[in-house]
Amino acid sequence: MSRGFPLFRTTSPVAEAERAAILGAPGFGRFFTDHMATATWTPADGWHDRKVGPLEPFSMHPSAAVLHYAQEIFEGLKAYRHADGTVWLFRPEVNARRFARSARRLALPELPEEDFLTSVEELVRADAPWVPDSANEGSLYVRPFMFASEVFLGVRPAERVVYSVIASPAGPYFAGGLSGVTLWISSEYTRSGRGGTGAAKCGGNYAASLAAQIEAKQHGCDQVMFLDDTGGDGSLEESGTMNLCLVTSAGELVTPQLGTILEGVTRDTILTLATDFGLTPVERSITLAELRAGAADGTITEAFAAGTAAVVTPIVGFKGEGYEFTIGSGAPGEQTTALRERVLDIQYGRAQDKHGWLRQVV
Ligand SMILES: *Cc1c(COP(=O)(O)O)cnc(C)c1O
Repeated sequence: MSRGFPLFRTTSPVAEAERAAILGAPGFGRFFTDHMATATWTPADGWHDRKVGPLEPFSMHPSAAVLHYAQEIFEGLKAYRHADGTVWLFRPEVNARRFARSARRLALPELPEEDFLTSVEELVRADAPWVPDSANEGSLYVRPFMFASEVFLGVRPAERVVYSVIASPAGPYFAGGLSGVTLWISSEYTRSGRGGTGAAKCGGNYAASLAAQIEAKQHGCDQVMFLDDTGGDGSLEESGTMNLCLVTSAGELVTPQLGTILEGVTRDTILTLATDFGLTPVERSITLAELRAGAADGTITEAFAAGTAAVVTPIVGFKGEGYEFTIGSGAPGEQTTALRERVLDIQYGRAQDKHGWLRQVV
């Protein structure tokens, strides 16, 4: 049994001039490369039909389980082109392991780590010309995902599942420079509860977060910040697509402990790098009351959100029902900016990769 993802090259790739135009201004998630990886799972055959082939639509029966019961998970990671032209992934094994954990929670079949890594690498190799050059924080965003494709309306774990990987060139997340965001602290919506799916990267979590996102926009905020489900003045969780980090005047880098939040790769990277910046990493719960008091008396000096897409996003203020406050001077913090630069320098090969986080693909 071959465990590779053999390449069946497309006969109609996007023309070179068109690709160059796209790479000049890719935005985020709007353009896709020439190929996709796929594999299928059934109880009888396990994972089979692994391949990288031309990017094409799925053909699905209207009763496909995912369309009704949202049995779906995904991952997000990036391929970075270094100045010498080589292409690298950043900690993809961590994504592979999280994908397996998400699969278990959603009662989907686990994809072996080796298959995850091979599929991502083979796709990035096949579409290497789509990896933007390192200027302007360009990267190739890679999206592995898995869904229940079985033709059956009964409620049970599907017995036919599709795994796939697509890729999309991405430009700088902050096209207009790093100015910082204001987050809306929702007292109406939560994203998870004990025993729920908060720690799994599944589409359903995102569907449930959109109403809160609308609420945030209505209050003039960029994103939502979720509290836990204890009601009232609860503890901070995360922003729905990014993890929360705070810097204190005591030199701590504080982030909510794992449990109901998503275990971000960027979060872990920041916790590991904190000591390089004289910060002590601390994972513990932070109540809204503590955040408000700390922002007011200056013991919380900086705040930022961490995630693969935007790396580190400075948070300059928070708003909620009947209150609002800024963090520090209301501008991106020094440590925030320095941590962001360090992560990017490692990803683009400009700083030493002391932790062995990079994996060469091309
Ligand atoms: C993906 C994701 C993050 C960030 O994780 P990274 O691995 O750092 O990209 C944070 N929160 C949620 C809900 C996510 O889905």
